[in-house]
Amino acid sequence: MAGIWVFADHKDGAFRRVIFEMLSEGKKIADFLGEELSAVILGNNVESLAPQLGEYGAEKVIVLEDAKLASYTTDAYSAALTSLIQKHQPTVLLFPNSSTGLDVAPVVAQKVNTGFVADVTEIVYEGKLQFKRPVYAGKAYASIAFADATRPMIATIRPKAMDVADPQAGKTAAIIKETAGDFGDIRQIVKDVIRKASGRVELTEADVVVSGGRGAKGADGFKLLETLADVLGAAVGASRAAVDEGWIDNQFQVGQTGKVVAPQLYIACGISGAIQHLAGIGASKCIIAVNRDPEAEIFKTADYGIVADLFEVLPIMTEEFKKLVASA
Ligand SMILES: Cc1cc2nc3c(=O)[nH]c(=O)nc-3n(C[C@H](O)[C@H](O)[C@H](O)COP(=O)(O)OP(=O)(O)OC[C@H]3O[C@@H](n4cnc5c(N)ncnc54)[C@H](O)[C@@H]3O)c2cc1C
Repeated sequence: MAGIWVFADHKDGAFRRVIFEMLSEGKKIADFLGEELSAVILGNNVESLAPQLGEYGAEKVIVLEDAKLASYTTDAYSAALTSLIQKHQPTVLLFPNSSTGLDVAPVVAQKVNTGFVADVTEIVYEGKLQFKRPVYAGKAYASIAFADATRPMIATIRPKAMDVADPQAGKTAAIIKETAGDFGDIRQIVKDVIRKASGRVELTEADVVVSGGRGAKGADGFKLLETLADVLGAAVGASRAAVDEGWIDNQFQVGQTGKVVAPQLYIACGISGAIQHLAGIGASKCIIAVNRDPEAEIFKTADYGIVADLFEVLPIMTEEFKKLVASA
């Protein structure tokens, strides 16, 4: 069958923006290679999600429903995707660079004996497809092309690195229902899913992130950040130092070993600017740093710097942003 596939991961009956970003880029790849764009949905009772994907460019939506796919497990999802790949032989398979995508994509690549590129931020259409990704904590970029015999080309795509094309209302995709083959030995059992709801926008999708580091001095310091985030409708992030101190859950860590963010505005409060933190914020459109040390590294990266004690300046910023938001 060939074709360009997008793994349409979903949560609570909805797709995250990155799925639409991948479909928009997938359409460009499909046009470049002269192939068809398809989305793949795995789960249980998920067919109703399919129509939306047609509006974002998928010509086909492959739906594989099975009770064993109701919750994500590496074994069940990788087995299902492997059997679909073996049956349809796609040329390209894109996953989101999310915890699920990063978990399942390399396993599938290994099972179908192909290559894998993680954290792709750009695809270059010159001769062969080239997958660009940051290396050395974002200090350089590598362009990776697959050998001719290596198919499918499997990659994870960084959220917010690519644009979403306008959806075409009413455009439909053909729905192809597949049945699961042999799942083999599923070694993981999901007994319960405990959600740590922050009630805020997801970090990797946020347009504004208010982030705190060791300078926040404790969980109470983070309350100041949360108050500012509430005014701005922002996500709250943290440095690893703040996470290690136990002031905030590790799902909020930003950086090389945390999440990569790409907001319009990143406000770094009491964060020194270690290279491992900067690796997660390089795609931010504008960075404001609040640090009482004028020599802090973060000021070399920040667009605007405020040399001040965050405990003094954050309440002032919160009040000023409140006024701005009220007058907007
Ligand atoms: C393999 C590896 C992976 C890592 N991955 C990550 C990662 O993903 N994310 C990450 O963040 N780190 C990561 N780190 C850790 C990283 O090296 C730094 O240790 C960490 O980022 C420092 O966090 P920080 O800036 O909050 O703390 P510090 O470096 O201690 O800086 C605190 C800052 O707060 C300022 N400050 C203090 N009080 C105030 C105040 N009242 N008002 C204003 N400013 C104040 C200080 O001047 C200082 O600049 C990693 C390290 C390693 C080795």
